[in-house]
Amino acid sequence: MSNFIDTLTVAKFGGTSMGSVDAMESAAKIVNANPTIRLVVVSATSGTTNQLLHVYKAAVRGETLVVNDLLGALEHRHLEMAKNLNAHPSTLDEIFSELSNTAKEITTESPRQLDQLLSFGERMSAQLFRAALEKNHITAHTVDARTLLATNSFFGKAEPQIEATRAHCARNLLARLKEKEVLVTEGFIGADSHGATTTLGRGGSDYSAALLAEAIEATNLEIWTDVSGILTMDPRTVKEAKIIREISFAEAAELANFGAKVLHPATLLPAMRAGTIVFVKNTFSPFDPGTKIYAELADKPLFRAVAVRNNQTLITVSSLRMLNAHGFLAKIFAVLAEHELSVDLVTTSEVSVALTIDGTSLGSSGKGIRENKALFDALSTIAEVRIEENLSLIALIGNHLTQSAGIAARAFACLGDVNVRLICHGASHNNLCFLVDSEQANTAAQHLHRAFL
Ligand code: ADP
Ligand code: ASP
Ligand code: MG
Repeated sequence: MSNFIDTLTVAKFGGTSMGSVDAMESAAKIVNANPTIRLVVVSATSGTTNQLLHVYKAAVRGETLVVNDLLGALEHRHLEMAKNLNAHPSTLDEIFSELSNTAKEITTESPRQLDQLLSFGERMSAQLFRAALEKNHITAHTVDARTLLATNSFFGKAEPQIEATRAHCARNLLARLKEKEVLVTEGFIGADSHGATTTLGRGGSDYSAALLAEAIEATNLEIWTDVSGILTMDPRTVKEAKIIREISFAEAAELANFGAKVLHPATLLPAMRAGTIVFVKNTFSPFDPGTKIYAELADKPLFRAVAVRNNQTLITVSSLRMLNAHGFLAKIFAVLAEHELSVDLVTTSEVSVALTIDGTSLGSSGKGIRENKALFDALSTIAEVRIEENLSLIALIGNHLTQSAGIAARAFACLGDVNVRLICHGASHNNLCFLVDSEQANTAAQHLHRAFL
C-alpha cells in the first residue's frame, strides 16, 4: 500500500501526550511538521483508563452515586479540553450519552462490558485530537478503530486477527490515506467478528499502532511518549539511565517483554514481520533524536539494559507423590493452559515446581491470580499449592550473556542483601533474571544498573 507514497508514517501518541491541551498542541505540531504522517493513533488522556476502571468497579458494586461522580469528573475534564481546543460544542455529546448508558447497564462482572466501557477513553481523545489538528490548520478526520482492527473475542486481552485487519484497512483506510488529510484513530480498541468492542490489554495502543502500520504497509512507526527514547532503565527508578540511540528489534522486544513500560510487549512483533522501522520519541522534546529500532545492528553490546516487571505471582506446587512419578509437570501445565495462563519462569526440584505468572498480562481488568478460584481448585487436586504475590522480576538484558563467564556471580554479588527468590539463567542468551520482593525491586535494579551499565 505504501507504493503511492515513498514514506508512510503512523504516529502514536500516548496518554501523557494527550493529557492536556498544551500536550495535544505539541502533538499537533509534530504531525504538522511531518507530511508523511497520515495515520495517527491515540491513547486515552492520561488517567482516564484508570478512572473508567473505577467506574466499572463502582458499577459492579451498585454504587450509583460514585459512578455518577466519576463520570461527571471525566466529562468535565474532557469538555474543558474540547472548549480550549475550539472543538464544536456538541463534539462529545453522543459519546457522553453512550458512555453513561453503558455504565448504567453494568450490574455484574462482565469483561465484555468492561471493554465497552474502557473504549470511551480513546474514543473521547480521538475526537479531541482531531480538534487539536484542525486548530493547527491540519485537515483531519477520525476513523473508528473498530472498523479497522479485527480481534478475537477474548475480552480484556483480545488477540488481533492480522488478515481480517488487513482487509478492513484496505476497505476503510486505503483510499482515504491517499487524500490530503490526516486520519485519527483510537489505540487499544478493536472489534470482534460480531462487532463487539474489545481491548488489547493495558498499554495496548502501542500494539494497535504497530498492527495498523503493518496492515497499511507503513514504512515508519513513531511512538511519541514522555521520555526521549528507550533508556537503559526506567528513568523514574534510575536517574543515570542513558538513552539507547539504536537497538535491534530482538533486543527491544526483550526489553518490552521484561517490563519496560515504554513499549507494550507485543508492539515489535508486527513491526518485525513487516520490517517497519520504529522510533520512540518525546512529544515534549521533539527534537531529541530518540531511539531507532530496526532489524539488524552491527553493534550488539554484552549488556543493554535492566528492566523490572512488577505484579508477578509465584505459584509453588509441591507433593511427595511427585518423587519418582511421571506426568506431574504435564498435569500442572495442562491446568494452566486451560486457564489461558502463560508461565514465565519455571524451576523444579524433586518434590516441587515453582513457576511465575505475570499478573499484568491478565488483561484490562488487572485482576490477580488469587481471585481465580477455579485455577486454585484445579491445581489443588494435583498437589499442595502456595501462591505468593507482590513479587517483581528483574532482568539484565544483553547479548550472548550465557557465553561470558562470571556474569551470574557478579550479578549476585552486586545484589547484596536483596532477597532473591528465584533465578533464571542459561535458558536464554539475552537475559538473566531474578525474582525479588516488590519492595526491593527498585534497589535491585539500581544495583544491577550501576554494576553493568
Ligand atoms: P505512554 O502513555 O506514552 O504510552 P507510558 O507511561 O506507557 O507512556 O510509557 C512511558 C514510560 O515508560 C516512561 O515515562 C518511563 O517511566 C517508562 N519506562 C520504563 N522503562 C523504560 C525504559 N527502559 N526506557 C524508557 N522509558 C521507560
Ligand atoms: N489507554 C490504555 C491504557 O491506559 C491504552 C494505552 O494507553 O496504551 O492502558
Ligand atoms: Mg504506554
